[in-house]
Amino acid sequence: MQIDFAKLQYQYQLYKEELDQAIHKVLNKSNYIMGNEVKELEENLQTFTGAKHAITCSSGTDALLLAMMALDIKPDDEIITTPFTFIATAETIAFLGAKPVFVDIDEKTYNIDPSKIEEKITSKTKAIMPVSLYGQPADIDAILAIADKHNLKIIIDGAQSFGSTFNGRTDSNLGDISTTSFFPAKPLGCFGDGGAVFTNNDALAGKMRSLRVHGQSKRYHHQYIGMGGRMDTIQCAIVDVKLKHYAKDLALRQEVAEKYTQTLKEKDLVLPFVNEKASSAWAQYSVRVQNRDKLQAKLKEQGIPTAVHYPMPLHLQEAFSYLGYKRGDFPLSEVVSNEIISLPMNPYLSNDEISYIGKAISN
Ligand SMILES: *Cc1c(COP(=O)(O)O)cnc(C)c1O
Repeated sequence: MQIDFAKLQYQYQLYKEELDQAIHKVLNKSNYIMGNEVKELEENLQTFTGAKHAITCSSGTDALLLAMMALDIKPDDEIITTPFTFIATAETIAFLGAKPVFVDIDEKTYNIDPSKIEEKITSKTKAIMPVSLYGQPADIDAILAIADKHNLKIIIDGAQSFGSTFNGRTDSNLGDISTTSFFPAKPLGCFGDGGAVFTNNDALAGKMRSLRVHGQSKRYHHQYIGMGGRMDTIQCAIVDVKLKHYAKDLALRQEVAEKYTQTLKEKDLVLPFVNEKASSAWAQYSVRVQNRDKLQAKLKEQGIPTAVHYPMPLHLQEAFSYLGYKRGDFPLSEVVSNEIISLPMNPYLSNDEISYIGKAISN
């Protein structure tokens, strides 16, 4: 058996007619930039997430930049985040000249550990940026309490978690600004790059809409230093089609995760843990194993692709050496990055495929 990790081709075939039609509609109109499909998608994203404002943009990375620019993050400001994430989380902080300040992760969820945040707050701290890793929001109750007490903003990097919830609210509707990514392999992906920012704050929404088009207030009049951060009309049309099926996709991902847990619970692995207040979008189903390289090679031989999210925590990355961190600073992030492995995950993974993967792990 050869297993497909994300089944992107399968999904295209599944919705081919609707997707082709949506793409051709844009081609026929040639309204490639800021066509009406952009606004239509934004309205549907608002409805889906419950956030008052959804603003599409060029990628999940640019969504983080827009969020921080809207909050006036400046050089020397400090933003507290997790070292166990994709580089874009902290890279964008550094790109704006601000300083990423890392806090180790929770042993069970692998998200930022709120109990370790307060000791890192200084007079320069402006915001906390939790990441909803593998699809599950961080402990927002605890983070909100800290942010309130110290007057800090919360930016949620929800690139992996569109549609996830905490206390019944989607993670696009928590914090001051939330972001997501429509990179093809994310739970809700387009056919290229795309992303969005979400907020309930009218002023921040207005500013991000302006920042997305070079800080313009009206054509050729520029109020802010902004960026070229629009999402293509075609990509918006594609996401809008997929969004119609997304509630079903999320339910299927949940079922796949449950079947995995059922199949793997007797094995010598640490399985994913979801906080009882949260639901996950299951971007990944990632397990911990002692001898990862051996397992990865064995699964590969049997046609089972795997991935490692992520093999090196950010505080040990060469690009961040100037921050002066060293091995041992964030022990849990370091251990988990050595042991974590993501198994094939998509809404269409069959029972047969899951049992096949379960058997392959035991052999
Ligand atoms: C994918 C990802 C991003 C970046 O999204 P792009 O759309 O690829 O720019 C940012 N943060 C996290 C946690 C991600 O997984």
